[in-house]
Amino acid sequence: MSNHERNKKMLLELLKQPDNSRCADCGAPDPDWASYKLGVFVCLTCSGIHRSLYSRVKSIKLDFWEDEHVEFMKSNGNASAQAMYEKAVPVYYYRPQENDCVVLREQWIRAKYEREEFTGETKYPPLSYTTGFYEGMLWKKGKENTQFLKRKFVLSEREFTLTYYNKENESKGPKAVISIKDLNVTFQPEKIGHPHGMQITYQDFDHIRNLYVYHESPEEIVTWYNAIRAARYAYLKTAYPTGSNEELIPKITRNYLKEGYMEKTGPLQKEPFKKRWFILDSQNRKLFYFKGQLLKPTSGIKDELPRGVSTAD
Ligand SMILES: [Zn+2]
Repeated sequence: MSNHERNKKMLLELLKQPDNSRCADCGAPDPDWASYKLGVFVCLTCSGIHRSLYSRVKSIKLDFWEDEHVEFMKSNGNASAQAMYEKAVPVYYYRPQENDCVVLREQWIRAKYEREEFTGETKYPPLSYTTGFYEGMLWKKGKENTQFLKRKFVLSEREFTLTYYNKENESKGPKAVISIKDLNVTFQPEKIGHPHGMQITYQDFDHIRNLYVYHESPEEIVTWYNAIRAARYAYLKTAYPTGSNEELIPKITRNYLKEGYMEKTGPLQKEPFKKRWFILDSQNRKLFYFKGQLLKPTSGIKDELPRGVSTAD
């Protein structure tokens, strides 16, 4: 047997170990790429991110492997990398899954291996999302047009609020003070039309409202996401003091089960069918519909109100 064949066989054996049978970074099953710098087995998508950072990435099946690199994979692997690089991941920190967008995966990989944020060593200054307070500028979509405007946002874990201002200074007071209590945040790059597009959904009396924001910096937008998650987690700990992490973590933020256009008619079924944007939310099993995907107003008023709210069952 040639070295080439023998090495490939050894790598395929390593992939059978339970920890190596899922991507080290997103958990996708049957990874067939590997980083021989870090000694981790990863999926095709995550391998592309690793390659862009330091290039020492190979396909298990297609590439030729040197003996020393196979030995390195053998003495490392996903379990030992996890023990080192994920030693101290905050419970609220979002771990991307196989269907998540690029910005979430890329920042997770960078935070883990490049910035070594989770190795358990104390950082100075402390990482922004761990301090309970965060402020900065975000591009926010205007209500009446598709233009994004720079707005100041302030997150306070002590007050359990997310505040934003209409002007770049705070002299006119806040435009909105949003309670963390009913807030959800998800990445929606395609819907918003920006790779870092993030949707903030909240309850305002009887209405569901959405804010569409992004930041040019991928690190900054993911910091915002995890800072909001940290505040949500702190809120849930206060609201449900006996709740276990297992119960609370899925409640921090949630991705919607399904979103898309459907045609609907009125209750009497006499009205013509109209195109509406529907969102199915696992929380309270609600189905919402809006006039448009980004709630672009057709009448110019009440553009952020949902057109209807009904339970999904
Ligand atoms: Zn992956």
